[in-house]
Amino acid sequence: MKRTLIKDLKEHLNKEVLLQGWIEELRNLSKIKFLILRDRTGNMQTIALKAETDADSFSLIDSLTKESVVEIMGTPKENKTSHWGIEVLIKKLVVISKSATPLPVDNTDKSQTHIEKRIDHRFLDTRNLKVQAIFKIRSKIARIITCFFDENGFTNINTPKLTTIGVESGAELFIVDYFGKPAYLAQSPQIYKQMFVAGGFERVYEIAPVFRAEKSHTVRHLTEFTGVDFEMGFINDHHEVMDLIESMFFDLVRNLEKEAAVELELLGVVKHTLPSKIPRLTMEEAKKLLLAKGKKYAADEDLDPEGEKLISEIVKERYKSEFVFITLFPWAVKPFYQMKDEKNKKVTKSFDLLLNGVEICSGSQREHRLEVWRQQAKEKSLDPEAMKEYMELFQYGMPPHGGAGFGLDRITQRLLGLDNIREAVLLPRDPERLRP
Ligand code: ATP
Repeated sequence: MKRTLIKDLKEHLNKEVLLQGWIEELRNLSKIKFLILRDRTGNMQTIALKAETDADSFSLIDSLTKESVVEIMGTPKENKTSHWGIEVLIKKLVVISKSATPLPVDNTDKSQTHIEKRIDHRFLDTRNLKVQAIFKIRSKIARIITCFFDENGFTNINTPKLTTIGVESGAELFIVDYFGKPAYLAQSPQIYKQMFVAGGFERVYEIAPVFRAEKSHTVRHLTEFTGVDFEMGFINDHHEVMDLIESMFFDLVRNLEKEAAVELELLGVVKHTLPSKIPRLTMEEAKKLLLAKGKKYAADEDLDPEGEKLISEIVKERYKSEFVFITLFPWAVKPFYQMKDEKNKKVTKSFDLLLNGVEICSGSQREHRLEVWRQQAKEKSLDPEAMKEYMELFQYGMPPHGGAGFGLDRITQRLLGLDNIREAVLLPRDPERLRP
């Protein structure tokens, strides 16, 4: 007999079905036994009655343990008093894999278990349908973004994660022993993205692991995260990159509401209201607004998390937008490869996108003119000759280009309003965690 999924039971009322799944709850009365069964599509009450269930199966239930895998032959019947509107009357029950007891974590909705302990036994934790919903949504986010890039002429590329070149800052690199020579885990695909704009693809994107050797103990940083990075050629300025990001996030929020309606409802996620356009404030304008609220920053300073939170609150009140772009960051706080603004060389044609007070995306127009690129490297005390593979990209015809990067983990966290990024990553890595 073919397996029926719990979500399809309503179509099989009063007909015999075969169900397979895990036992979520067990309640044992003398003549009637209640058993909540769960599969990947939901959970369902099943009942065994002394008078109607096969005698061996009926007594077997006494020795059952929660989270065991079982197979049930039974008949779905209407039951208006049950939470599901139906329940399955068990005819026969077979134990496929018995779970040991006690369970190392409580994976019920009532669980108070700390996130760290839940991650220690993540495969048990994800059996909870609410936890699973986060990852089903994350999976849909990745799919919607992938479709968006494909529809907009981007080619999906895969670049090395074992490398000898990094561009953000040496301190953030994990060093690995590569047959006796030092190599690094990639902390950004920056150079490679630019390489394949120069390589004629014009538009490329990558969704892949990014490694950061930062000892951050926050609810939004990990040492390994899934980066979504893209780069596009033949642009006029950084606003074109922001236009693309704006369309992408609007497309994402709208499609997610349709495609993940069930999961979003299960998690009780409040809908995001989208403005007709995401406000774009220059860093200078943002700092003026912050000053009016008593928060002072030097001209070449970046915003701290408190400033990001406050500026988002101001924008929400003024422009009714949860999203805001902050543009034209001080040259002092940005990497050398960003293009400086023509009118004010103290800032770069860069931007960050904030969602409800937290940075979710960062990008810029890149410098493509070889001589300017060399000069800017020197200004940041970098030796252009030591970055030969990077420099070569600007020697043989490089279009004006720009791009951005964001974390799949961070956007899942922020879109779902989760307190901790670890809730949005199956097996997070941070300075204290390398297992499981
Ligand atoms: P932050 O200011 O939050 O530390 P950053 O300026 O170091 O971020 P970028 O290098 O610009 O970040 O990375 C772009 C995006 O990648 C961020 O907007 C965020 O979505 C994600 N990201 C960066 N660092 C981390 C991290 N350690 N853990 C998870 N996601 C990250």
